[in-house]
Amino acid sequence: MNALTDIFERLQAVVDNPVKQLDGFIRSGKKVVGCFPEYTPNEIVYAAGMVPFGVWGAEGREISEAKKYFPPFYCALALSSLEMGLDTALNKLSAALIPTLCDTLKCLGQNWKSGVPQVPFIQLVHPQNRNTPAGVAFLVEQYKKVAKQLETLSGQAVTEESLKNAISLFNLRRAALREFSSVAAQYPQTITPQMRNTVIKSGYFMDVLEHIEAVREIIARCRALPQEEWSGHRVVVTGIIADSPSILQILADNNMAIVADEVAHESRQFRQDVPEDCEPYEAMARQIAELEGCSLLFDPEKKRGGMLVDMVKKNNADGVVYLLTKFCDPEEFDAPIVKKHLDKAGIPSIIIEIDQQTKTYEQARTALQTFADVLSA
Ligand code: SF4
Repeated sequence: MNALTDIFERLQAVVDNPVKQLDGFIRSGKKVVGCFPEYTPNEIVYAAGMVPFGVWGAEGREISEAKKYFPPFYCALALSSLEMGLDTALNKLSAALIPTLCDTLKCLGQNWKSGVPQVPFIQLVHPQNRNTPAGVAFLVEQYKKVAKQLETLSGQAVTEESLKNAISLFNLRRAALREFSSVAAQYPQTITPQMRNTVIKSGYFMDVLEHIEAVREIIARCRALPQEEWSGHRVVVTGIIADSPSILQILADNNMAIVADEVAHESRQFRQDVPEDCEPYEAMARQIAELEGCSLLFDPEKKRGGMLVDMVKKNNADGVVYLLTKFCDPEEFDAPIVKKHLDKAGIPSIIIEIDQQTKTYEQARTALQTFADVLSA
């Protein structure tokens, strides 16, 4: 038991049973929209009077039906998300909002449309040249198209005012999570890697206000604790998703505290606010235009490696753990480039393949034990 046990248990219950959360929203008369990876505009869903609900696959879910639509070697995140649609677990969603940022997601959208017709598919196409006037204008039009489809489902118009309010609210959550991430680095004994993940992940299934309140409560309780010493290792984690209880436990077992992350499912969702000083659709498109360090967002200069070097220095970290999602092409292309940057800066790093279908991680355990020894040397 520690000062945060009760609140962590509450958030853990949320992440352990997202369907219960979904049922709760439906019972309270809300319509819920499935927001798939990566970079779905939660603010538009909220402004249309509905609840954005994260669908980022499911750890350990048996895949059978989805293999009729995808080759079995596709990324498990897409496979398990489709499986949940095909086995009707997500039937209560009013729509599935699926971007097209990688080849797998392009197919996922089309497969969803064909295999899960009971949950309407809404496609979102991000521009390749996102940081140009034409790219921003294109994404604004995409967002307006998505808003129209959501309005039809909810019967509530997305007005400039409702969208601005939603942006402010989601920026508040971004700020709370940024603060939490930095507090987690200061209290590594209290906030284990698993707890850190739970706090961030629970936001995908909770009402945004309720989640902000919980995160702020955790921050306040941590700040009331005496300063924590940490004689273990301080690592930065990068990848698409770090939502693997086994891997997070292996990090904890090897005295590794996550002091910062560059993970699509985690900090990349809250690292950068949506600007609040211009027209709201344009503001949201600008945020995507300016977001850097993601293997899915076109970046001819490949800035992610340099960003990780800066992150390691800023957080006084000892090394980087690259959690490479199995069969994820964008990440496989980025990994050697990132490693080269880290090597050049003399920062130890390790690449660990993760997969929501993997049952045992004994090889990863050995590799991370060795990495811990390297960090101790
Ligand atoms: S970016 Fe990678 S993890 Fe995400 S859907 Fe595409 S292949 Fe899967």
